[in-house]
Amino acid sequence: MRTKDEIIADIELWAKERLAAGEETLYIGDRVSGVGYRKEENENVIMASKKVIKAEAIPNPPPKPETRSPEPDWRSATDLPTLKSMISGCTECELYKTRTNFVFGVGNPNAKVMVIGEAPGKDEDEQGEPFVGRAGQLLNKMLIAINFPREEVFIANILKSRPPGNRDPKPDEVAACEPYLFKQIEIIKPKMILCVGRIAGSNLLKLPDESLAKMRGKVFDFMNAKVMVTYHPAALLRNPNWKVGAWEDLQKFRKLYDEMVGADS
Ligand code: URA
Repeated sequence: MRTKDEIIADIELWAKERLAAGEETLYIGDRVSGVGYRKEENENVIMASKKVIKAEAIPNPPPKPETRSPEPDWRSATDLPTLKSMISGCTECELYKTRTNFVFGVGNPNAKVMVIGEAPGKDEDEQGEPFVGRAGQLLNKMLIAINFPREEVFIANILKSRPPGNRDPKPDEVAACEPYLFKQIEIIKPKMILCVGRIAGSNLLKLPDESLAKMRGKVFDFMNAKVMVTYHPAALLRNPNWKVGAWEDLQKFRKLYDEMVGADS
């Protein structure tokens, strides 16, 4: 039996003769196994090709384009810095077009208490940190009043990008952003969550039409944490007479924390 090289040489010779005889360019198949062996099996294979370029050994198949491994999914993050780096460029809703900063959240990664607000405002958008404006100053005082320094808790919002003009979050924005908050809760594993404001409470607890009055004073369960809802500090700045009710809520929150976690923790 002839070797493959001999067969290829034979085909080349044959093709050259054809070309010299004025035949159209010749083409011999493109399957490595097909070049010589097929000729041997069937002389007409080459003839059957209309467009034959030239007789040559079939080149090795081109190397496969390098496939880049896909970006790891943010859902795989197991710590806050990794999660932050994975989601800070988020474009899942329209708000990325108008925000200055993605406001991930701030605080103790091992916090036993999380505080959840509505969405970044102007100051938060500019500084990339939640609750840094006037409402934030009052929130800090509210937390200190029940012996939780700001650095000890973790503060985040339902939305991580500022809605223009501080309008209420739209349902599609909440739907796009809340998985990030849930992931933060999953990583931090707080024992208790304090929602400030109706929008924070009703969105987190999936009670869309619930009033703040109905949520205040109750204890809800969410992702293995006890959740309470109180006034938003911005609302307290506008209506200082609500501070009495807020103080009652905060004391109840602290009492439950002491019972669950311990007063020294
Ligand atoms: N209001 C909020 O709900 N969150 C902030 O971060 C600031 C103001």
